[in-house]
Amino acid sequence: MRILVVNAGSSSLKYQLIDMTDESVLVKGLCENIGTKGNITHKTGDGRKYEADYPMPTHKQAISLVLKLITEGEYAVISDISEIGAVGHRVAHGGEKLRRSTVIDDEVLNYLETIVPINPLHGPPAILGMRACIDLMPTTLQVGVFDTSFYGEIPDYNYIYPIPYSFYEEDRIRKYGFHGTSHRYVMGRTAEILGKDPKDINMITCHLGNGSSVTAEKGGVAIDTSMGFTPQDGVVMGTRSGAMDPTVVTYIMKNKGISAEEAENLINKKSGILGVSGVSNDLREIAAEAEKGNYRAELSRKMLANSIKKLIGAYTAELNGLDVLVFTAGIGENDAKVREMVCENLEYLGIKFDVNANMSAPRGEEAVLSTADSKVKVLVVPTNEELMIARDTASIAAK
Ligand code: ADP
Repeated sequence: MRILVVNAGSSSLKYQLIDMTDESVLVKGLCENIGTKGNITHKTGDGRKYEADYPMPTHKQAISLVLKLITEGEYAVISDISEIGAVGHRVAHGGEKLRRSTVIDDEVLNYLETIVPINPLHGPPAILGMRACIDLMPTTLQVGVFDTSFYGEIPDYNYIYPIPYSFYEEDRIRKYGFHGTSHRYVMGRTAEILGKDPKDINMITCHLGNGSSVTAEKGGVAIDTSMGFTPQDGVVMGTRSGAMDPTVVTYIMKNKGISAEEAENLINKKSGILGVSGVSNDLREIAAEAEKGNYRAELSRKMLANSIKKLIGAYTAELNGLDVLVFTAGIGENDAKVREMVCENLEYLGIKFDVNANMSAPRGEEAVLSTADSKVKVLVVPTNEELMIARDTASIAAK
């Protein structure tokens, strides 16, 4: 079966067509600047590449172009849309109700509309993407895979915020958690590498990219995670502050006379590594600056690493002991220095970090970073959210 994976953002749309017989990627691509100038990059698994500016005023037009490229002409990989067995949609937020991947129908779409107020950035484009696919492929099964659904088993004492309970009951304010599809893939792959059942491993997975989250898994389910009501909470990120005293925000709002929207923009887009360093949100540039002796660049990196280290300590306590620590995503898969800073001085927790193995680990590949006698294994496991979405979609389509 072939599964089309669609990830619709506000002005972009990523796609992959995966052949589930061997999980190979037949084609992957990206539509950007939807609604403005429009351009597409489309790469087939056998190395053909198409790049062009192309007007795509709406998500529907973008998907229509993708379907045309996939099925017709020089860059085609199948000859008819009917060869697509099902479409899997990445959906960041499934609210409290959508706790597993599910067939998209009117009821699900209506529910997703009701939670747009708590998911204003990612909800509307995801809904547009799903509606467009339903219109263009009315007979093809559409499945939603929700980043939040991995957190359905988190205990109440970890998802309720310590504010009046009515905010949970009436306003749906609680920890939802994000990046769940990535953490779930990494948990499964890690167990496979170790030849164990995920149920038998106490694990901490660190998804460190532009946005970062750390999740604790016990018994094969997530029991805590660092992102919260929104992806703003948790570790220091590229441009997001992560966790801090909430009155810092209200104080700045009052003192500088800025609105809630401006304050949100400040902690989301201008803070974190970028805000502290004043250099960049990209760890490659931070590393180069730190090497030149730039104090604030080095400080921002120390803050990032230490915010992760503190969560590892907290989650090890919650898990009642740790078996495996895993790094993934842009920083986790590529930045050996950050991994070293996170893992140094954790011997008390049973982590013996192999500095040489870490430094020589090939970028973006699976690797073991702990010594042979380390009680806790430390691994790099590259994430693959698209494959996780395709697997869920194929298994629902097979029912
Ligand atoms: P997103 O959260 O947007 O999916 P990624 O997981 O791709 O992001 O991570 C992007 C980040 O990964 C970059 O901003 C950069 O900080 C970091 N990164 C990527 N490649 C490297 C590298 N070779 N060395 C260090 N950091 C890297």
